[in-house]
Amino acid sequence: MAGGLGQRVGGEGLPADETRVFWRGVTLLEEHEIAPTYELYLSGCPLHCPFCAVPGASRSVRAGERLEPEALVEDLEDDRHPPFRALAFVGGEPTLHLPWIRQVVPLLRAQRPELLLVLNTALCWERGLAPELGSLFDWVVGTVRVHQPACAQALGSPAGHPAQARAAAEALLDAGARVILRLLALPGHLDCCAAPLAEWIGGLGGDLRARVMLNYAPLGEARALPGLDRSLSEDAAAGAALLLPSWVARPALRPLFPIPERLPHHRDPPVSIDIDAGGRVVASMVTGTILPWLAEGDPSLRPRLAYLEPHAR
Ligand code: SF4
Repeated sequence: MAGGLGQRVGGEGLPADETRVFWRGVTLLEEHEIAPTYELYLSGCPLHCPFCAVPGASRSVRAGERLEPEALVEDLEDDRHPPFRALAFVGGEPTLHLPWIRQVVPLLRAQRPELLLVLNTALCWERGLAPELGSLFDWVVGTVRVHQPACAQALGSPAGHPAQARAAAEALLDAGARVILRLLALPGHLDCCAAPLAEWIGGLGGDLRARVMLNYAPLGEARALPGLDRSLSEDAAAGAALLLPSWVARPALRPLFPIPERLPHHRDPPVSIDIDAGGRVVASMVTGTILPWLAEGDPSLRPRLAYLEPHAR
């Protein structure tokens, strides 16, 4: 499946009527520039990361359900959703679904012009796509994690993926796209991959924000893989946090999530809720589920929902 999907990325993509959505809803798990975010998870990914949080859906383009563009626009109006200011196409790898996305984006621009449109991609496509992606989306969020071809292969990706991802990001920036790069620091790959990637990011120009993600969690197959079966140690995380050169712009603010503490049962920590002087409902901790839960519990709170982050780095 991975090879077959890979051949279609950067080409014409899957026919629009084959696109499937396997999850959608509002989350705060994104950078503050684009949060809260209505996320649309599209099935299928040409990569095969052993730590993938959604292996079932990333390895099958048939996972999930059809969603007509008009039905999506209608769902966005559903007042059971908490407020959101961006809509992100997530995956899987959403560029597999460009034909469907090309139908959806004009509708969204017409019906919801205030929404920021975001592409969240593993940058596994040819650089020639960058000008179109840069014009379709207000933000492109790209994740990089490996630098060495051998490391890519060891992690289930083609040997050429690291170079392809760097070329794709550079082409997006050359095309004038607003880009957030996430450098996922993987245990055992700090010297060989994270450090040279951070140096590469330091040399990029354009409208870029970047950050190092320290919250790697061993999910799926990674739980059984030596080296990948644990989170970053405290020392490794402290070192990785310093990798990005100081001149690289960071996302404005971002929540910190105690992902390792949520494993293996994914129980959200207790959350304190308050109402501030401005009358806003404030949650002192954010999780992917807290806003929908609040909005459902008392719909009158929905327009006032806000949140504080427990730490800022
Ligand atoms: S790129 Fe993302 S969606 Fe694709 S396999 Fe890797 S973790 Fe899963």
